Amino acid sequence: MQFIDLKAQYQALKTEIDENIRAVLEAGQYIGGAPVKELEEKLAAFVGRKHCISCANGTDALQIAFMVYGIGAGDAVFCPDITFISSTEPSKMFGAASVFCDIQPDTYNLCPESLEKQIQAVLAEGKLKPKAVVAVDILGNPCDYDAIIPICEKYGLILIEDAAQSFGASYKGKKCCAFGQIATTSFFPAKPLGCYGDGGAIFVDDDEIAALIRSICVHGKGPKGKYDNVRVGMNSRLDTLQAAILLPKFKALEEHEVADRQVVAKRYNEAFATLFTTPFVQEGCESVYAQYAILAKDTATRDKVVAHLTEKKIPNMIYYPTPQHALPVFKDEPCYGEEFKVANDYCARTLSLPMHPYLEAEEQQHVIDAVLEAL
Ligand SMILES: *Cc1c(COP(=O)(O)O)cnc(C)c1O
Repeated sequence: MQFIDLKAQYQALKTEIDENIRAVLEAGQYIGGAPVKELEEKLAAFVGRKHCISCANGTDALQIAFMVYGIGAGDAVFCPDITFISSTEPSKMFGAASVFCDIQPDTYNLCPESLEKQIQAVLAEGKLKPKAVVAVDILGNPCDYDAIIPICEKYGLILIEDAAQSFGASYKGKKCCAFGQIATTSFFPAKPLGCYGDGGAIFVDDDEIAALIRSICVHGKGPKGKYDNVRVGMNSRLDTLQAAILLPKFKALEEHEVADRQVVAKRYNEAFATLFTTPFVQEGCESVYAQYAILAKDTATRDKVVAHLTEKKIPNMIYYPTPQHALPVFKDEPCYGEEFKVANDYCARTLSLPMHPYLEAEEQQHVIDAVLEAL
């Protein structure tokens, strides 16, 4: 059994994927070209943004977002305590301070109350300038943007949506990647929309910012092209082959995979409703369940389930074992008295189970039975 079964997906989409790879090889153009352009146009239309600029991975996408807005020394960047390091790494890299916020007890996403408290603490101290918020749609479940956006507007903060885990999810009629001045996603193989290597994309509505991003992605190229370098940039591109692979995968995501993920999540929800805390998705929203995480009643129970699943060779993961504020790399970040009660408790009790759109009921029942046996 696979935690995320990419081979089953390949079998389902093999004809189209093979055909697309062959077409790229026969055309002999491996950087840029028609597949990249077609993918960018389709993804922008799908999420409802004016521009999609593809790049090398989701981490680059976030770093580029920081470069676009000149986030750096003296700035405070607010981010949730539960996320992957890519969301918080750019702050450190560009000399800004990460100010971690606690998470919501139901969705495990950035808590708006903690966010506002932390902004006020930074202002009261008067050392750092509150500059940006990185809102992460954790586990594929959208953040509460109706609560977060007014806070960003009130304090003049740039909102960056880290939608690495949530491509295909939606929040009250809008797709993830549509929130904030800028949104980023990842095509790492295990993400809801994954390629066969690394890839990422940035979404914006502003034409000038889109042009700036295209320049940054190609070594700060200027109006006269790639040898007319006008700023410091990066080399961050999505390979033509990866775009060609993503096109049929995107079609499958749009046509049925998001729906299939709901079916799998529902089967787990029903089996675990009374024994675990199952995922909560806000009214009018849809998660893509990049991960299906349950909370056990305590750490001992979680660890007992992990041990039993591992013994039965059923893949399982803990996303994430350590909250950001407790990572060694952030030991010197500023602290404002936030205790991260919810984030600490989440890490102590969380457990993720096999989850992908090709998980058959029978195979899933095997996972469910093993979890129940462990109790
Ligand atoms: C995976 C991930 C990223 C980074 O994506 P890569 O393509 O692996 O660089 C960023 N943020 C979050 C929340 C992620 O899960």
